[in-house]
Amino acid sequence: MLRLRDLKCYYDTPRGVVQAVDGVSFDIQPNEVLGIAGESGCGKSTLLKALYDYIQPPLQIVSGTYEADFSDGKGKVKTIGPGEIRQHWWEFISYIPQGSMSVLNPVIRIESQFFDAVPRDHSLRAAGKTAIRERVAAYLKELELPVEVLKSYPHQLSGGMKQRVLVALGTFLHPQIVLADEPTTALDVVVQKGILLMLTELQRQMENTLVLVSHDMGVHYQISDRLAIMYAGKLVEYGPTDAIFNNPAHPYTQMLIGSLPRVGDRRQRVGISGRPPNLVNPPAGCRFAARCPKVMDHCAHEAPALLQIEPEHFVSCHLYGNEPLERESARIAQCEQGLPHRLVAVDDVSLSLPAAEPSILSIVGESGSGKTTLARIILELEHPTSGDVLIEGHPLFEKGGAGLKGRDYYRAVQPIFQNPFEAFSARKRVDKYLFNAALRLKIAANRKEAHEIVAEVLESVGLDL
Ligand code: SF4
Repeated sequence: MLRLRDLKCYYDTPRGVVQAVDGVSFDIQPNEVLGIAGESGCGKSTLLKALYDYIQPPLQIVSGTYEADFSDGKGKVKTIGPGEIRQHWWEFISYIPQGSMSVLNPVIRIESQFFDAVPRDHSLRAAGKTAIRERVAAYLKELELPVEVLKSYPHQLSGGMKQRVLVALGTFLHPQIVLADEPTTALDVVVQKGILLMLTELQRQMENTLVLVSHDMGVHYQISDRLAIMYAGKLVEYGPTDAIFNNPAHPYTQMLIGSLPRVGDRRQRVGISGRPPNLVNPPAGCRFAARCPKVMDHCAHEAPALLQIEPEHFVSCHLYGNEPLERESARIAQCEQGLPHRLVAVDDVSLSLPAAEPSILSIVGESGSGKTTLARIILELEHPTSGDVLIEGHPLFEKGGAGLKGRDYYRAVQPIFQNPFEAFSARKRVDKYLFNAALRLKIAANRKEAHEIVAEVLESVGLDL
């Protein structure tokens, strides 16, 4: 219901341009709890501001896209983007900020802060203040909060109560998306637990989406369905929370999880030494290199990966009526014809193979789980319905892009087919394939050299010429 693609949000400051969110892509699904984790200064809160469409100078969106599916409650869904999302604050998307002290207006009673949160065109506003007051009072009772808080000023409430009021304020119009930015920071553990329980219980009851920013991995483990790990403005890992905790891929995620204390485990936990880089002038190459125990020479350079399907280029292939859809127009035509069977063969896949080290990436799964379709996309035999594949940094499917063409592509990517009987033409001699490939791809300069190369290759697989 929310889609970010290659989103870049920078602060233009006297110190320079802070690249706070730098090329982030992911999707947020309906009815899920998405956790956003990472240290302070990694771009989590800026990302949340962008999601809330709260972009004000010096913050600006410099590139990328962000859009949301807005349901009007009468069955109609329309796509809205920056500038439009803010028109639906509170009823479509709400924001529970960190630090209740600075958010609740100290000179206005809590009740009036609820009145202000009702959008001008909302039916409740038309019904008048008494109706709003009754609705809010009933909601506070539901949340087991004393109705008397409505007559209070913020300074008359405890920290925990103020945070509960903020949760109530952010949810009383039942928004489809609730963004919570470190809602339990600076609260004691008991109050923290109560607030988190309140948030998750409300998300479950309202069947909406909760996006929770927290640097506390323990909190994410308890309540997030999916997790996005941010480091130095980049999204370094994204996936189901269980999968990330059981098998973290990025060294930063591994270290974040490794620093988490566990009940019964008496081993000394180590933190991550150092700090995230200055985002005014972030290092070239991997931004985690200065702190990474697995750092290698190439990490500090911008060497493009050999094969990359990054979160920015999530690749999906949806087949309709068992036919690949080559173009958006074809997809729309099929939808209009009411084609009933949509097969999601590959959905939001990302992976990366580094260029610097020879490596083997195994793709495992049952028949029908999309392995072959993914391979066919990488071989350009199937066209993705969205996303792209980068070979040595060159996008394969970008319109007008400088992708690898012809010989360069075939020198970089070669298949070994499943079925040898279908892979070869019965009318061609085997050596023809090999000689032609060596000459056409300019692996050999002449026939003599091609002969030597073919002989060598055959020998390496136990055959002779
Ligand atoms: Fe990976 Fe190298 Fe970055 Fe470590 S420094 S996270 S090994 S790219």
